[in-house]
Amino acid sequence: MNLILPAQTTRLREDITQAVGDVPIVRLRRVASICQNHFCYLKLESCNPGGSIKEKNATVLVNQAEEAGLLRHGGTIIESSSGNFGVGLAIVGAARGYRVIIVVDAKTTPAFRRMLKAYGAELAEVSEVDANGSMQKARIELATRLAESIPGGWYPCQHYNPNNPDAHALFTAREIEDAFGARLDALVVGVSTGGQMSGLARYLKPRYPHLQLIGVDVKGSVIFDPAPAPYKMTGIGLSFRPPNLDYEAIDKAYVVPENLAYSMCHALAQREGLLLGSSTGAIVSAGLHLAQQMPAGSRIAMINPDRGDRYLETIYDPEWLQANGFTLIPAEHMDIAIEQLCICESPR
Ligand code: PMP
Repeated sequence: MNLILPAQTTRLREDITQAVGDVPIVRLRRVASICQNHFCYLKLESCNPGGSIKEKNATVLVNQAEEAGLLRHGGTIIESSSGNFGVGLAIVGAARGYRVIIVVDAKTTPAFRRMLKAYGAELAEVSEVDANGSMQKARIELATRLAESIPGGWYPCQHYNPNNPDAHALFTAREIEDAFGARLDALVVGVSTGGQMSGLARYLKPRYPHLQLIGVDVKGSVIFDPAPAPYKMTGIGLSFRPPNLDYEAIDKAYVVPENLAYSMCHALAQREGLLLGSSTGAIVSAGLHLAQQMPAGSRIAMINPDRGDRYLETIYDPEWLQANGFTLIPAEHMDIAIEQLCICESPR
């Protein structure tokens, strides 16, 4: 398999897919006072070459499809993605010479659209909204139809492909093990397809049974909370329960309001120098709430899935925030806002 492992000694890579992985893990210091006497770390998957963790899934799934003969020279990769997985596939497709078609919807940000096209991917758009105000089901249907009708078409189907978690069992989990060994008390992970959570759980749970695994979703999504409501967040959240998510592995879950998540993103930028994606705001809010419940000296790692540049025209744009009814919590009130977050009692 082509992803690099930290043990690799050379800096030379044969192509961009071999430059995926081995990202830094940084300690948070100033974003909330709890960071002073707890060890709160953020694993910066935003430092992957295209800016997100999903390049790992893209590389591993394409490698597997090539090995299985599902994807051959001249083939077409088709996927439903609101952004990062599409970009990951566009990168791998460009590097290996495949045509890439990404099915998007109205929530796909202008930055993601431009990025996908810049890598040479084609966009297919859906507009049918389901009862929950989501277009995810329509996207999956269109991707399925395209894969059936285009000769040489391959649809990785991140939501239903049981191999989706493999990248994280094979690589992300081992990177965490290399960094922390047994000296980690909790790992906080955003959830959508469940790929990260299930892959991490598969490798880490049997080896580190004391490690708490914490799932994070956005308010309005039905992954942990059966009450659907419209939400603007992309990256985390789903309008159905993800078949790839290992609910049994999750010790605790959080369903974070968007306003807190976006406020945390701004606080991370201004107090830590970290301009990160919207789901990271939810993940860090949950991780810091968890830290508040744990003894001083506890070690908590959170996974940052993507970079903030994709969101400059949404959550980092004051006009977008205002137009969508979000009022940022001032940085000095973040400690209290984090304290008020609730743990979701029955995530299963
Ligand atoms: N955050 C962001 C920004 C993402 O793009 C994704 C993947 N959609 C996630 C979190 C959740 O990851 P997973 O699909 O592996 O559950």
